[in-house]
Amino acid sequence: MQKGDVKALESKLADDKLLKLFIDLVAFDTRADFTSNDKPSSIGQLRLGAYLLNHLARLKLKPVQTKEGVIITKIPATVGYELKEKLCLLAHLDTAPDASGNNVKPALVTKYLGEGIELANGSIIDHEISPELASHLGDDIVVTDGTTLLGGDDKAGIAVLMHLIESLVDDRITHGPITVVFSVDEEIGRSTKYLDLEVLDSDFAVTIDGCERGELDVATFNAEGAKIIFKGKVVHTAVAYGKLKNALKMMADFIKALPHEESPETTKDEQGFYHVHDAMGNVEQAELMMILRDFDKQRLEQRHNFVTDLVQRINDQYGEGSCEALFVKQYENMEDVLKKYPRIVEYCRAAFARANVPLTEKRVRGGTDGANLSCRGLPCPNIFTGALNCHGIYECLPVKSLHDSFEVTKALVELVALGDTNSNN
Ligand SMILES: [Zn+2]
Repeated sequence: MQKGDVKALESKLADDKLLKLFIDLVAFDTRADFTSNDKPSSIGQLRLGAYLLNHLARLKLKPVQTKEGVIITKIPATVGYELKEKLCLLAHLDTAPDASGNNVKPALVTKYLGEGIELANGSIIDHEISPELASHLGDDIVVTDGTTLLGGDDKAGIAVLMHLIESLVDDRITHGPITVVFSVDEEIGRSTKYLDLEVLDSDFAVTIDGCERGELDVATFNAEGAKIIFKGKVVHTAVAYGKLKNALKMMADFIKALPHEESPETTKDEQGFYHVHDAMGNVEQAELMMILRDFDKQRLEQRHNFVTDLVQRINDQYGEGSCEALFVKQYENMEDVLKKYPRIVEYCRAAFARANVPLTEKRVRGGTDGANLSCRGLPCPNIFTGALNCHGIYECLPVKSLHDSFEVTKALVELVALGDTNSNN
């Protein structure tokens, strides 16, 4: 069993600038807060924002901070560069609400040997929790002390972009016009609505966010949410015969009629699902919250129709007006957009090859900011940061993965500047 070592981490920071940047960033508690209507939802995001603004100003850049806390930095093209395509790069400031981000105490596991990792509080990361660790033998891995998340999602992305910006401003890398965005409240689904595509003014974009080394996310679910409302009729039980209608029983009937083999717990890969996730109510009225997911747009529509039919069945059984469904579109699969505008995916593939990082193209069983941006007209796949087990205390970051994320992003910038989707240049 190996343990995280704080001193080992400290001694490594002197000659690893990218890692140092990352460790500085995780000191900020930027946990997003569902319950807050503030913009951004937590003060920590503004504090980290202020720190980054300072850093960027020292590089003689002129970042702007929107009223929601989003930081947008325009980096003009290398002098003498002939304008080709405009690239936008994004990462998010907030961390997941699922675990504390307060007082993160990172430590380093040196040259991972393949067994379990014991965190300072006694928690253990084993292969059951993190099967991906098997492919990180010999890597140095940053871990937590077991009481907080690490914040690699997405401070690893921020560190990669800050490190990249430093190389861009003194033109060590030839580059076209680049917009770097540090968004807020991604983890609670609010980030892209604070982004104005006219301000971003780019041909395409890439998010640098979460996930295992080598991953390029090119597809997401199509997603719809639904609130199902059941209306009962309350009559005293003593005289209820033939009169009482129980909204809770309607809800039970509804849930039972959903196909069990099409739930998140019974599906994988390409399969979509229905998922009921919240319910409240009494005899008089009950409400059920559910989500519908599918990679295929038509199949999502079929799911929508299935729910509509089910509502009708409840009405047939309990009387018209007993049940209704309110649907809300959540996000769309970015794949359709990326197929129509394949250039950014071609650049990404070439960037992985140029950086010598084996590529795994992945279809995400969820949504990304890129899905929203793509559907609004800014094609936007996602590149890995290398962080593993995000959103909890087992989160960790192999140092090599972080560097590879940087190398791929740098290669992408170079290739876009060349206007060449071939990695051999
Ligand atoms: Zn993320």
